[in-house]
This record gives sequence, C-alpha cells and structure tokens, in this order.
Amino acid sequence: MTTRRNKGGFQLFRLNRFRLAFKAKAVESKALLARLIVVGITMLAVVLSSRAQEPSVRFIDGDGKTLAEVQAFLQAGQIYLPVDTVKKVFDPAMTYQYNRPRKRLTLTIKGKQLRLQTGMRAVSIDAGKQTHTLSTPPIVVGQRPMLPIAFFTQILPHLDDVEVVYNSSLKWVRIMSKTARVPAEEDAAQDWVVIVDPGHGGPDDRGCESSTGLFEKDVVFALAKQLQRVSRQQGIQVYLTREADVKKTHLERVQLANRIRPRNSSHSSPASHHQGQLFLSLHCNASFSPNEKGIRIYVNNPNGKLRFPRTANLTPTGKPVKILSQANFLKQSQEFAFMLQRELNSLTEVPVVITELPLAALSQAYMPAVLLEIGYLSNVEDLEKLSNPEHVAEMTRAIARAIQTYTTPLNQQDRTTAAGQ
Ligand SMILES: [Zn+2]
Repeated sequence: MTTRRNKGGFQLFRLNRFRLAFKAKAVESKALLARLIVVGITMLAVVLSSRAQEPSVRFIDGDGKTLAEVQAFLQAGQIYLPVDTVKKVFDPAMTYQYNRPRKRLTLTIKGKQLRLQTGMRAVSIDAGKQTHTLSTPPIVVGQRPMLPIAFFTQILPHLDDVEVVYNSSLKWVRIMSKTARVPAEEDAAQDWVVIVDPGHGGPDDRGCESSTGLFEKDVVFALAKQLQRVSRQQGIQVYLTREADVKKTHLERVQLANRIRPRNSSHSSPASHHQGQLFLSLHCNASFSPNEKGIRIYVNNPNGKLRFPRTANLTPTGKPVKILSQANFLKQSQEFAFMLQRELNSLTEVPVVITELPLAALSQAYMPAVLLEIGYLSNVEDLEKLSNPEHVAEMTRAIARAIQTYTTPLNQQDRTTAAGQ
C-alpha cells in the first residue's frame, strides 16, 4: 500500500515540476490551456491507473500457510471477491449458479445450499433452516456476482467447524479449524502460569519514543494487559511483572516471575517446581535508520554471538544459585520462540526473525523465556500499526495463540521430560 502511495506522490511531484517549468516558459494562453488539458488527462490517467490496481486478499490456514491469493474488487471501502474463491479456499466441491434477472445467487458449499441475492443481506441455508444477515450484501460487478469479505467471516463458520478472521490492514483472511485448536480450559490452563513482562516503566524509564510522542513503556503495557485478558478467557493464568507505570529492574521482574507458581502445582522438588511457567518480555524497538522495521524475537543463549558482562551467580540472599538456570530451558525457549514466530509471521510482510544471544534481562529467569520486540517506534509503518487498535488486537490474539499452543499438554510432553536435567 505504502509503496503505491509513494509512487503516486512521486508522479504528482513530477507533474508539479512539469507545470512549473512550463509556467517559466510563459507562452501564450492558448498553448497553456492545451497543456493544462494534457496535464488534466495525465492526472486522470494516474487516478484511473491507481483505481485499476485492485487489492488482492491472501487466504491463509491455521498454520499461516497461504491457501490462495485472490484478486479483489474494491467498492465504497468494501472488499469483494469472486464467488469461486470459496472453491479455492474452503470447499473444492463448491458449485454456484447465478440467476441474473432475479439477482439470485445459489451456492452449494459443504453439501449445504445457500441462497443469496445481490444487493440483499439475507443468507438462507438449506431452504431457511438457518438464516443469517450479512453486514455487507453481495454485489454484481460486470454481470458477475461478488461476495463481500463478510460472507467469509460470518457465513463459513456456520458451514464447517472453522474460525475465520480478517485482517483489514494486511488484507488476509485466516481460515482455521476449530477442532484442531486446543480445549484450553481444563487441560492446559491449570498447570500453567505465564508471566508477561511489559518492559520499562516509571517516569525515567520510558523505553524508546516515537516521533508522535508514544512511549515504549505504554505500548507494551497496553498489549500486556490485553494479552492477560485474552489468555484468561482461554483459561491461562497470566501475571504481569508490573501492574502500573512503575520502575522495576530486570532482576526484580524475573525474581517475581520465579516466585509465581501455577495454581495446581503440587511439585516440591526444585527441578520440577518451575515447570508450567513461561516468561514473555515485551519491548519495542528503535533504530537510527527509519527503514528498520518488523518484529524481532530474542532467546537467551549464553553461547550466542554477543557477549555481555557475566552477572554473579548469587541470589540476593547470597546463596549460590542452583544448577538449574535459564540455560536449562534453552530448548523450550526456542520452541516457544518458534511458535510465536509462526503466529506473528501472518501479521507482517517482513518475516519475523529469531535471534539467540546472551540476554542479561532473561538470564535469571528459571523457566522458558522469550523477549519479543513488537515493532520499531522509529519506523513510520510500524508506528502506524502499533497505533492501530485493530492491529494491536490482532497481535494480541497471535501471541495468545502461540501461548495456547505451547501450553497444550500434547506439546508439553517432550518438554517436561527434557526439562530440569
Ligand atoms: Zn525496551
């Protein structure tokens, strides 16, 4: 989107220069008029050509894999897709008929018959057994019926056990199977506690700052709060390392995390009582280069490339730290980073990068731990996204999905046996 806009801007700029150069010549008014008409036509052509560049919508599955990239039609701010998109992304056996005089569109999807009318919002399934009302009606474009995005998000879930989400800023539709998802409530939830750490805090630790006056500490705090809400709805206990705009050291944060136990934890051995814990530290990035953008994931690996001064292996009480340390959780941290990467990749055109390095901020967390930088406040596009509540909500859901996947008992088994060695 942005590159297109830039291109348009550049063309206008060239036109202006052209006009100015022309004025300088100061030729007679008739020729001027003729030239102005030419300029007018050129500008119209620019407008028309940008009109012709319709958006495309990407359909992805639960794993973020692309199912199809579909050319869309934009009208009055709504996106419409050809009817056979359903065939490509949802049901290969789908068929449809369109009765032009009656404007009646009949679709057979997953063995069910759907009746719609272009310009009308009602959808009848199996001769009125179910009726639904679309937020946007289907339309006709060049005698072809077209379905609104709302058809996919609002109707498909009634035809199969799927959840359909549309991301309007990135123009993708995600169709994922509900049955493949986790029944979080009973299984995963009780034995897990997730500690979310909104970075920075307080008047003198505001983190990085955007040109618009947005502070990292506030952006990550808002996201952490939202993540807490969403995860709790899925039955996962989430604690924050700070509940307000207060300053805390890295050590205070991880010590707090180390103290929190899952509700049902009955383990007493030092090796196992950190089971079921997960630490996620949230930050924003900033760079001197305004082009630097995207999401970054960091895993603490003492053998990583960068070197930090070693912190003394002493607890605040002066006792040496047990053999158990963050390094024991490298494999689990990597796995969680991987799940985060997979979920977050669907939110961004720039692939999410995982970096392993010695991270002082995480080194004292005796549990799988990942540091997530959700975008660059110094980059215009990232800033726009992070200022957009819809995008932040989408990101929250993506992180929550990663947490849910990670804390699923099925995925846990390998980890619990591998941990605490
Ligand atoms: Zn930070």
